[in-house]
Amino acid sequence: MSIRVGILGYGNLGKGVESAIAQNDDMELKAVFTRRNPENVKVRTAGVKVLQADELSHMQDELDVLILCGGSATDLPVQTPQYASMYNVVDSFDTHARIPEHFAAVDAAAKKAGKVSLISCGWDPGMFSLNRLYANCVLPEGKDYTFWGKGVSQGHSDAVRRIEGVKDCRQYTIPVEKAVEAVRSGSNPELTTREKHTRECFVVAEEGADLAKIENEIKTMPNYFSDYDTTVHFITEEEMKRDHSGLPHGGMVIRTGVTGMEKEHKHVIEYSLKLDSNPEFTGSVIVAYARAVSRMNKEGMSGCKTVFDVAPAYLSPKSAEELRAHML
Ligand code: NDP
Repeated sequence: MSIRVGILGYGNLGKGVESAIAQNDDMELKAVFTRRNPENVKVRTAGVKVLQADELSHMQDELDVLILCGGSATDLPVQTPQYASMYNVVDSFDTHARIPEHFAAVDAAAKKAGKVSLISCGWDPGMFSLNRLYANCVLPEGKDYTFWGKGVSQGHSDAVRRIEGVKDCRQYTIPVEKAVEAVRSGSNPELTTREKHTRECFVVAEEGADLAKIENEIKTMPNYFSDYDTTVHFITEEEMKRDHSGLPHGGMVIRTGVTGMEKEHKHVIEYSLKLDSNPEFTGSVIVAYARAVSRMNKEGMSGCKTVFDVAPAYLSPKSAEELRAHML
């Protein structure tokens, strides 16, 4: 029998999860749940209903796992503990500093309900976290580096949109190639924020807006831009639509380390992602973990987990025998 999945929240990530489910024959999308009026939300999978989020109060028998696709800032801190008390759930909570407190709240709810919850799934946190952990275990003496991009940062794009005179913005984070090469060489460089990434903004300004003022406000914005070298391009609405409507992203996790009695041998471990669509890739990771969560709960496990707690074989639709025969 296929794994019956529900999606709560139908933004970019909700759509990415929907398309990932369509690529996995052992999973079935049962319904999409939204806080908005369901009549205004159109899903792309034939025959799938859109229901009001309130309906989740009584659908425990119809779903094996509920995937939470709300935003990390205000939705997930409330939604994940709430639904962990009723369903096996997966979320993509990505506010790194608040993961311990989020874990504690979700763990209490999931344990009480006898369900499994998996938080902070995706690529960062998620696949990047796993690769940082593996690399640290294998090379205990070494140094970690994470580079992001080239890709769209939603938070930085939003910050620019709030400046007076700005109609729209797309902000790309770009790793500095010279810094990446220095890291790959194994020379263990100490890199400042400015040396690791640059930022590039494509801005649509309102008619008559003071472009020099906007550019200056962007470049000097504390926390977001003042510590980086930033380039600002003013473009038309048509150019924005034509050239910047996708949500590409990616990055690299690199660990360099030494082995040998004299520490004479250098090693570089690198995990790299180049993503055409951040939400579709994140959705694909989440769906693999939703399979694991459903299985782990069937085996009697409960409580909150992260990607660190899931054995890799649980992610695959293949049997343990098939994996040993073809993937080892
Ligand atoms: P969106 O802003 O597109 O969607 C968030 C929620 O907004 C939706 O679930 C939806 O809930 C609600 N919403 C309200 N109005 C609308 C509307 N008009 N159109 C679409 N949605 C609407 O965020 P994303 O989906 O891009 O990202 C969700 C979270 O995923 C991010 O906060 C981020 O933290 C996380 N993420 C994590 C990654 C990782 O690697 N771990 C990578 C990428 C993202 P409803 O349907 O109930 O109204």
